Amino acid sequence: MLIYEAIQHGRKCLAAANVASPLLDAQVLLGHCLDLDRMALLLKRDHHVPNEPWRLYCQLIDRRANFEPVAYLVGNREFCGLDFQLSPATLIPRPDSETLVEAVLAAIADHEAPLRVLDLGTGSGCLLLSLLAVLPKATGVGLDISEDALSMAKTNAKRLDLENRASFKQSEWTAALDPKAAPFDVVLSNPPYISHDDLAQLMPDVRCYEPMGALDGGPDGLDAYRAIIEQIPPFLSADGLLAFELGAGQAPMVGTLLQTAFGQPPSIHKDLAGHDRVVLFRKALR
Ligand code: GLN
Repeated sequence: MLIYEAIQHGRKCLAAANVASPLLDAQVLLGHCLDLDRMALLLKRDHHVPNEPWRLYCQLIDRRANFEPVAYLVGNREFCGLDFQLSPATLIPRPDSETLVEAVLAAIADHEAPLRVLDLGTGSGCLLLSLLAVLPKATGVGLDISEDALSMAKTNAKRLDLENRASFKQSEWTAALDPKAAPFDVVLSNPPYISHDDLAQLMPDVRCYEPMGALDGGPDGLDAYRAIIEQIPPFLSADGLLAFELGAGQAPMVGTLLQTAFGQPPSIHKDLAGHDRVVLFRKALR
């Protein structure tokens, strides 16, 4: 079997299963099995695929045909220009969430300041670690309820050489966070925000494989926002920044929750698709 034949074979299997991007997925999976990037696959199109990688590739194509996400099959995903290792315990980082990182960075006046960052529901650690990577003096804490997700976040901190500035702890929101750890200058979260009605509508790639605890936001999708907004005041510095990712159509409701709790309206930021994606709230200095 030659490389281009293997790609064609994979593409056909995935197209027959109605996978959304069959050619790209076949290339990424074969590249993973042969330890080659996609360009190298093109340049070596007439090279033979050895038996062992071929067997592995066929298994991965079968799993992808059952909608298992490519990021779990290959074990990593790029986010904010960094490479994050993943497991099924961690949500797969989305380009949408880069809007959250971008909005927080735009709101921070001094990137050289020794800021303290708190990431609630850190998962793979992608949000916290992407921020620390461009804020050379910042330190951060990532909390998550899942031990398995935290072990992935710690691995990522190590791989990105950020383990001296990032620490991780198991906690349901701020429940296990020592009050002495306060105050934080930036608190951010991409919480579970899918409502129960919408959970059933998710694509099988998400619904059947990504961690339900990272998706399920309760009956109306807002449970996590309510819990965090209630718990966060003692942990936020006097002029601290609170930043959330939002689900579709949630800006007005989360905006109202923040306005009610803090007496000030937040600002809303759109993602590249033009959807309200991020809500930022700056606590006023008193
Ligand atoms: N903070 C992680 C991310 O953005 C995990 C978010 C989650 O599990 N809801 O990918």
